[in-house]
Amino acid sequence: MVETAGNTTTVVIVGAGVAGLTLGNFLLRSGIGCIVVEKHSRAYVEKRQRAGTVDSRGVRMFREWGLEEVVKDGSSPKEIAGGIWIDGAMYPLGFGDGNTDAVFCPQQVLVRNLTDAFLEAGGDLRFEALDVSLKDIDSERPTVRYRDPDGTTRTVACDFVAGCDGFHGVSRASIPADALTHYSHEYKYSWVSVMAEVPADPFGMAIHDRGLAARFPRGAGASRLYLQCPAGDTPDQWPDERIWSELGARFGADVPTGRIVDKRIVPLRSVVFSPMSRGRLYLLGDSAHIVPPMSAKGIHLALYDTEMFARAIIAKVEEGDGSLLDSYSDACLSHVWNYQAYAVWITDLMHDAGDVSYEGAFRKEIARAELQRLNDSPAAGRLYDELTGGLL
Ligand SMILES: Cc1cc2nc3c(=O)[nH]c(=O)nc-3n(C[C@H](O)[C@H](O)[C@H](O)COP(=O)(O)OP(=O)(O)OC[C@H]3O[C@@H](n4cnc5c(N)ncnc54)[C@H](O)[C@@H]3O)c2cc1C
Repeated sequence: MVETAGNTTTVVIVGAGVAGLTLGNFLLRSGIGCIVVEKHSRAYVEKRQRAGTVDSRGVRMFREWGLEEVVKDGSSPKEIAGGIWIDGAMYPLGFGDGNTDAVFCPQQVLVRNLTDAFLEAGGDLRFEALDVSLKDIDSERPTVRYRDPDGTTRTVACDFVAGCDGFHGVSRASIPADALTHYSHEYKYSWVSVMAEVPADPFGMAIHDRGLAARFPRGAGASRLYLQCPAGDTPDQWPDERIWSELGARFGADVPTGRIVDKRIVPLRSVVFSPMSRGRLYLLGDSAHIVPPMSAKGIHLALYDTEMFARAIIAKVEEGDGSLLDSYSDACLSHVWNYQAYAVWITDLMHDAGDVSYEGAFRKEIARAELQRLNDSPAAGRLYDELTGGLL
């Protein structure tokens, strides 16, 4: 196996997802050296379908950093009819003060645009970096090692490592397990998650005693469909005909059908690892925490961590001020727990209001009363902003 002489840089970013690429762009624009290493090919990363919305905070953040073009392909939820269906009756979305900046922008489109922006600005992005490993994270000069597809092993020495490699990456695994506290909450149900070639117009969620359902746009002519199902269900229990008939039953009317291109079961859970740093390694996004898709705040949290970390690195490099790096984990975790609280509340509310087989008829009536109160109050606008600003 060939071993090359090393590279050096200020920050090695592990993972070219939403967090890693956004961080790379922020650092590049601030004149701070960085190298992104990503284990998959560019084609794979740019096709990976997941979330579909950048919320108001995220859009404003990209604007402030001069990167608004990365969400240019998105469409405003205000431009598409949407609502919440309760027992088949549709309640249109109100958008409160009308100030939402959220856009429906499929995650793979955001990732493609961030990749283009990074490369056009001269960024160093290394796809198909295999067997990435982190060394000496407790020292002043950590290294990141990986293997090229041709077998060449490469080592990059750096000042800081940004672990942006998602829930199953290597960064968090490089921290001794006894140095991390793992918090997790399992919900009692899962979702059947479907990508289909059909427009989600109107988009929205259905609350019904058969369980929750949802349909959201994923670019022109495509949508992600969700159906609450018992934890432990498998995709083969959900043939295509059952998906269309359940959607129709829960929305209270036939829904347009199309080719189903992906179908999987997504267990709903909340997870947090604390602290979000160790030595010179900092965890960002899904590598440190995940929220259930009902809350649709995974991208929000990844972008929040990224901005906090970018500002901390800039302060350290430009002014020698390490205080923001020192407080990075506490500052992010405070935000994360706030959004975990929101995620548990909205997930319980939307599920309890429908299928009584989990929490019973009393909780159903409580959840319905809460939805009604939100709908009748000025807070409704806030709820709708949250729902459409982060949703799925
Ligand atoms: C099916 C699904 C649906 C979702 N729906 C929503 C939604 O509707 N709304 C929402 O806000 N969020 C949603 N999420 C969550 C959202 O996609 C994540 O929160 C978001 O992608 C987090 O970004 P990230 O950059 O932290 O991680 P990721 O996007 O996971 O990026 C991590 C990157 O690291 C790379 N990587 C992994 N391991 C290594 C390694 N060893 N070496 C190098 N690179 C590595 C990966 O290939 C990937 O490119 C969904 C997630 C899933 C799985």
